[in-house]
Formats: sequence, structure tokens, C-alpha cells
Amino acid sequence: MEIIEEINRLRKEKHAVILAHNYQLPEIQDISDFLGDSLELSRKAASTDADVIVFCGVHFMAETAKILSPLKTVILPDLRSGCPLANMVTVQDIKKLRSENPDASVVCYINTSAEVKAECDICCTSSNAVDVVNSLPSNTIVFLPDRNLGNYVSKHTSKKIRLWRIWDGFCPTHENLKAEDVLQLKKQYPDARFVAHPECTEDVLKLADKVTSTSGIIKYVKDEPAKNFIIGTETAILHRLKKENPDKNLIPASRQMFCQNMKYNNLESLYESLLNMEPEIEVPKKIRDKAFLTIDKMLKIGRKD
Ligand code: SF4
Repeated sequence: MEIIEEINRLRKEKHAVILAHNYQLPEIQDISDFLGDSLELSRKAASTDADVIVFCGVHFMAETAKILSPLKTVILPDLRSGCPLANMVTVQDIKKLRSENPDASVVCYINTSAEVKAECDICCTSSNAVDVVNSLPSNTIVFLPDRNLGNYVSKHTSKKIRLWRIWDGFCPTHENLKAEDVLQLKKQYPDARFVAHPECTEDVLKLADKVTSTSGIIKYVKDEPAKNFIIGTETAILHRLKKENPDKNLIPASRQMFCQNMKYNNLESLYESLLNMEPEIEVPKKIRDKAFLTIDKMLKIGRKD
């Protein structure tokens, strides 16, 4: 309790806002000022009037907050919080893809570094990927780095998506879910609704009643009049889902859907980071200005779940 009181005191004193992703530890979710998915957190980072943003998520998310709010201090409590998917694409890769596809627009998932975003035409999240692709004048799209999300988008647009043969990015957490796991649970709970994140493999997505982002999953579970739900995304989201739906039975699709990178931030590191105002996230102005345009174009597109 003492540490929570200290965090509360410090956030007030420093005029700080704590933003947390739905995959963070339960205690971090509970203490956050705002809990959401990548798109919701980006919008919040852009609109907050706090002086300090403590970003409880992974590195690319804190970078995105800094790009959108360059005058604010942005802190990531534990710098080990990286994203393996974001690390699967580099600036050199984008340059190569551009030279091989001169007629294409390049769309990057928000799970990319600031340097990569700076080289792309527009970015997207799992909430708005289809809308972003459909908004582009070009008929050919290079989509990266997530092959599963890209494959999902290709099935929901008339545009030609170039990705998986060129690109081989994936989220290890979501690829841990196998179709056999889902089939087994469906046998056990024949009336259950299965809702999956589009970072899951195609085999898994074919079994889903609904494919949607984390905020879409939260909405789906709340709105659907079913009792049993099989949740096909990172298991920490179950904390929020259970709090918001105490009368529903929420079943993780696989206990292997655990992202360690999302669990480095804890109450101790959050407290230390607020106390010392570090580790601070910086993005060089040259990269920031270009990456801002890539993100801002996305934020101007409405969302649908
Ligand atoms: S769940 Fe996947 S995409 Fe999200 S931070 Fe972890 S590795 Fe990256």
C-alpha cells in the first residue's frame, strides 16, 4: 500500500499521467490513469495536458508518445520492455522494399521503431489496419512487419497487399496459440465464443467468431450475450475482462500467450521512474518530424472494431 501511496503522491507532484497497455501486470493496470490498446494510448498521449507521460507498455509505444508529445517528458519504467515483432524490421529493410516496389505505398504496423516509421507512408494499429489500407490512393501496398495482420488485412481489402513472401515478421506471443488448442477448448465449451487478435495465425483466425484488436475484444465480451468466451490474445487482458464482466466465464485460449516484454514494468520500477524522472525516452528531431507525419495520418482516420 505504501508504494501505491508514494506513486499517487509523485504523480500529483510531477503532474504526470500513467498510461498502461491492456497486457501490463494487473497492479499496473489498476494504478493507471488510462488503460487501452496502442491506438487509444496514442490518442491519449497526443491529447493529455500532463507534463509527464509514464508509459507502461513497450518501447515503441513510449516512442510513439514522445513523437506525438515532443514537449512532454516521456518515461518508460523499465527499458527492457522491447517488442520482438518491432525488432524484426529495420530502415535498410524498408529501403530495399521500396526499391523493389516503387509503385507501392508502405504501411507499417505501430509495432515498429521511430526510425522505421519515419521511412513509411502511414502507420496503423490492429484496430484500424483495414481502414488505413483502404484510405490509400495506391492499389499496391507493402505491409509490415506482421505477416498475420497483413494476411488478415489482405482478406478484407480489394488492394493488392505485398507482404508475407517478402516479409516474415510475427508476434511470438500470438503465434504461440495453435489451432489444436482452440479446437480442444471448443470441445470443452461448445457454446463458447472464440475471439482472437489478428496477430494470431490464419489457422487460428479461421476458428474465430470475431477477429479484433484488444479494445475490440473488450467491447465484444461486454456486448455479446454469451456466458463463455475463449480469449485469443495475451493473457494479462483477462484481468480487465474479469473485472468488467464478473458474470462471464473468460477462458484464456492458451497460457503460452504470455509476453514477458510487457511484464518488466512493475510497481517498484514505476515508483523509481517517477521519483528520478528516468529512463526518459528521446527521439531525435529529424526522425521525430518524419515519424510524426506517419502517425498523424493514421490518427486522422476513424476507427472501427
Ligand atoms: S505481445 Fe507481441 S506484439 Fe505485443 S509487445 Fe509482446 S511481442 Fe510485441
